[in-house]
Amino acid sequence: MTASWTISSIRAALESKKLSARELTKDYFARNARRNSELNAFLALSPDLAFAQADRVDALVARGEPLPPLAGVPVAIKDVISTRGIPTTCGSRILENYRPAYDATAVSRLDAAGAIILGKTNCDEFAMGSSTENSAYGPTRNPVALDRVPGGSSGGSAAAVAAGLAVASLGTDTGGSIRQPGALCGIPAMMGTYGRVSRYGLIAFASSLDRIGPFAATVQDVASVLAVIAGRDSADSTCVPETVPNYAAELNRPVRGLRIGIPREYFGEGMDAEVRKKVEAGIKLLESLGCVPVELHMPHTDYAIATYYIVATAEASSNLARYDGVRYGLRVPGATLLDMYKKTRGRGFGAEVKRRIMLGTYALSSGYYDAYYLKAQKVRALIARDFVEAFQKVDAIVTPTSPSPAFRLGEKTADPLQMYLADIYTVTGSLAGVPGISVPCGKTPEGLPVGLQIFGPYFEELRVLQLAHAFEQAGGFSIA
Ligand code: GLN
Repeated sequence: MTASWTISSIRAALESKKLSARELTKDYFARNARRNSELNAFLALSPDLAFAQADRVDALVARGEPLPPLAGVPVAIKDVISTRGIPTTCGSRILENYRPAYDATAVSRLDAAGAIILGKTNCDEFAMGSSTENSAYGPTRNPVALDRVPGGSSGGSAAAVAAGLAVASLGTDTGGSIRQPGALCGIPAMMGTYGRVSRYGLIAFASSLDRIGPFAATVQDVASVLAVIAGRDSADSTCVPETVPNYAAELNRPVRGLRIGIPREYFGEGMDAEVRKKVEAGIKLLESLGCVPVELHMPHTDYAIATYYIVATAEASSNLARYDGVRYGLRVPGATLLDMYKKTRGRGFGAEVKRRIMLGTYALSSGYYDAYYLKAQKVRALIARDFVEAFQKVDAIVTPTSPSPAFRLGEKTADPLQMYLADIYTVTGSLAGVPGISVPCGKTPEGLPVGLQIFGPYFEELRVLQLAHAFEQAGGFSIA
């Protein structure tokens, strides 16, 4: 079996009958058995579902029927995304035994496109974190360097693809949780425009920021998965009706002449020297492809972390009020109703989730609402305006994805602020709602991957993908 399958190589192997979807699925579970105990990328496997899906694909091949776009592609799903009848814990004790009654729209679209759902991947509890160390089920290790974090919060989804345990995976990004683990594990990872992909069935952290998006070994495969999951969904009123282009088919359009904005605020202090070198070399590479660099000023960038951690915690505090021990999930009995609430939430949530609920509740409380939440909403609008104004001058914005390569397990766990600063380059695009990708950009001398982040204007996912694809091809950065 080939070590690194891609969506198109699987399709060719199925069509020429060199491989059956069942054999491929078996191979991926065997890989899992060899590697997952060390990586802890998967929290649950779904072999019954996977083999049923594989048999469906094999039946299509046997009948000579046309194959759907992701036929036979083994995928993994972040554990904050609902999967019918399959454990969905959000990395939390409070949902330890929870099995959703329905699939998220993104999951049912993968299923309808012929994908094989292997299982659920580890993440920071309720997607709150940047290292996957906030999971109640132990951290995930970075397959590139086992003593290091894979990034977070979608660390399991990134590690699964980087280690060859899945061909593609879904993650979620609220402040960087797709792009940053993509960067730290050395694979492309994308969030579309806010509203591009339905959030139906995504267990909410911060609803005005949460997005679902793909990881894969190549930009081409990221494009193929995004095209399947994107598009109107009547079950999510924030999901937009814009038509979804066939991203993968149009990836090869030339990037010559595109103006790429380099915002100076993203190249200040606090960036690792090796990351700076690689990203600067990456910009030179884009120039060699005919892109025109334009220096940009995005004046509100400095306020992004503070703004994000008010908006995100405020929304989290209200979204997480539903875990009360009554409706679903963990229930710890108590002498009175209040006692039961306290014990359930006290034992069910981990330290970071509690910290955020308290911060968010404070920011929303009467007397403080105007000073914090309302103010943060206003600054959010200014940050979004920085992007809108920038895109009047440039076609895309290029920055580092993360200020440092993968850090060591335990290195930042004692200092939440240090952990929050890992998101310094990603939260801006989250607050603005624009699409963004992280694409591999080489490795440090120690062999740690560095990611280049590309933002595009609203609904210009195709341009972001074209640039990332041209960059990946020119630099030979893909692991596939
Ligand atoms: N690391 C950021 C946080 O902890 C982003 C998380 C995310 O995007 N889900 O909130």
